Amino acid sequence: MSESRLYNLSAGPAVLPEEVVQKVQANLFNYDKSGVGIMEISHRSAAFDEIISKAKQDLRSLLSIGEDYQILFSTGGATAQFSAVPMNLLRKGTTADFINTGVWSEKAIKEAQKFGEVAVKASSEDDSFNYIPKDIRTSKNSAYLHFTSNNTIYGTQFHKEPEAGGTPLICDASSDFLHKKININKYDLIYAGAQKNIGPSGVSIIILKKKLLSGIPEGLPVLIDYRTLSKTNSMYNTPPTFPIYVVSEVLEWIVKGGGLETMHEKNKEKASLLYDVIDNSSMYLSKVKNEDRSLMNVTFRLATDELEKSFLDASLKKGFVGLKGHRKTGGIRASIYNAFPKKGVSALISFMKEFESSN
Ligand code: PMP
Repeated sequence: MSESRLYNLSAGPAVLPEEVVQKVQANLFNYDKSGVGIMEISHRSAAFDEIISKAKQDLRSLLSIGEDYQILFSTGGATAQFSAVPMNLLRKGTTADFINTGVWSEKAIKEAQKFGEVAVKASSEDDSFNYIPKDIRTSKNSAYLHFTSNNTIYGTQFHKEPEAGGTPLICDASSDFLHKKININKYDLIYAGAQKNIGPSGVSIIILKKKLLSGIPEGLPVLIDYRTLSKTNSMYNTPPTFPIYVVSEVLEWIVKGGGLETMHEKNKEKASLLYDVIDNSSMYLSKVKNEDRSLMNVTFRLATDELEKSFLDASLKKGFVGLKGHRKTGGIRASIYNAFPKKGVSALISFMKEFESSN
């Protein structure tokens, strides 16, 4: 980190790669020596067309996405997709199956219930969402199975896709998108808000199988209907040009950094260093089942609320921001997304050890 920047462990919007932020800073004023800033160019310009095409191309290569999938850029956050997915894909006489792994799944469930039949096929609510349920049986008339791949608030993560048994698989990957290579062919639709792993807030990425587009009912609001963005290269109206541009730079950063295999190795190493400290300490306690621990959001507790408060106060003084757990769960949460450097993890570990020995 450069001297003026702190270690940012926020859950999202979150840290972006420093090189990307610096490049964006220069392009804000004068994009690619064009004489116009990146926020000021038209979405109908050749320059923007190149940006969005390159972003799609990099994403296709990173995830080996075939031509049978469509990539869309949308606004409204992942939350808009909680409504868009059932509006586009849930039909009368079919059931939307869900795995409930906490707040974000619950919000998706609540939204789907407005548009049709919903069944919660598995849940980890019985243990405060501290694990990932494994045994899933989908409904007979299942329209799709929806899961949240990483549970930002609790620090649990699916390390393998749930068995959908032939039912279309839909994933909210908002907080772990592109943290590793996945087999995209297992998914029928995957969506993610950009603001954790791949960019600033203001844009979501949706990757969906083209064949889903043929069954969408008529009469949906124009921007909810997946066919609209699909037919217009995500530019039916003015798209969020600046966030899409930053996403394109982050994708290039991932490609140049060695792709998703390298990213995954780095993420595993960072997380395991941190979990090791927690496991070997008598001060820090992880409540998450070991095999379901997130590589992105490392959550832990200290013995009392007072101790947690003094940990957070001390961490701020040492230059770590964003460690406070979600208001729903309390505790501490270190979000160590793709762009969070290993150097920062080492610094955090030194701080944790120091805090433990002096308290
Ligand atoms: N899903 C997950 C897993 C999230 O972490 C979040 C945001 N924290 C959301 C959905 C909601 O995203 P947005 O704010 O982009 O609507």
